[in-house]
Amino acid sequence: MSVPPAKRLIVGNWKMNLGEDEARALVRALATTLPFDRTDAGVAPAFPCLRAALDAARGTPLTVGAQNVHADDRGAFTGEVSAAMLAGMGVRFVIVGHSERRTLFGETDALIARKVAAARRHGLVPILCVGETEAEREAEITDEVVARQIHVAVDTHTATAVEQLVVAYEPVWAIGTGRTPSPRDVTAAHRAIRAALHARIGTVAAGIRILYGGSATPANAPALLHAPEVGGALVGGASLDAATFAAVARLAG
Ligand code: PEP
Repeated sequence: MSVPPAKRLIVGNWKMNLGEDEARALVRALATTLPFDRTDAGVAPAFPCLRAALDAARGTPLTVGAQNVHADDRGAFTGEVSAAMLAGMGVRFVIVGHSERRTLFGETDALIARKVAAARRHGLVPILCVGETEAEREAEITDEVVARQIHVAVDTHTATAVEQLVVAYEPVWAIGTGRTPSPRDVTAAHRAIRAALHARIGTVAAGIRILYGGSATPANAPALLHAPEVGGALVGGASLDAATFAAVARLAG
């Protein structure tokens, strides 16, 4: 149950950065520099840049995803975007439960479970983010925290839906801070996540990719992304530059 798939997955979370022209240029640069023979790769631009990124990525192995989705398919939800709309554009995955959504926008585990369901209803791969805060880390309850986040997010879904998930372990205190956990701590958290998935869907949990996220760079990629159980990386800041993101991907592959 502890063997991640051979090909790692590297995903860039662009957050609220880059305009349409920059998005198009970055996708074109990534299409020629990423090591697609060794890694799968995707980028998640802001909503207004999805069309430009999708057009630039057409015919390349680079997949394009969104950073957020609403839990309902339609209705009076001013400012929101549904999974049906994203799927209709050709978007392939969506980041769900990022810690910035949890802490800055009040997203709960229960809402995140509904967003996972919405993504699956429309054939999008949810990249479900979980991770402990600094206080939870100091209290040594990381394993319990990530297990709870997984349980709440997946317990109401069918085993088939859960199998399609990608999980990203992102310690909240490591995001955008330049601080990272040790490879040993990363492996321990990934094992807790996989055990929680195993409890829900059994041995097929072994095939679910669990990414590491949090200040990943070319400097720390060799140690962090080759720690046992790590199936790739969710990369924020370092994904905004083609050469840096490609270097992380090469070191992960
Ligand atoms: C993220 O926000 O998902 C992330 C991993 O950010 P960074 O790499 O900048 O820490």
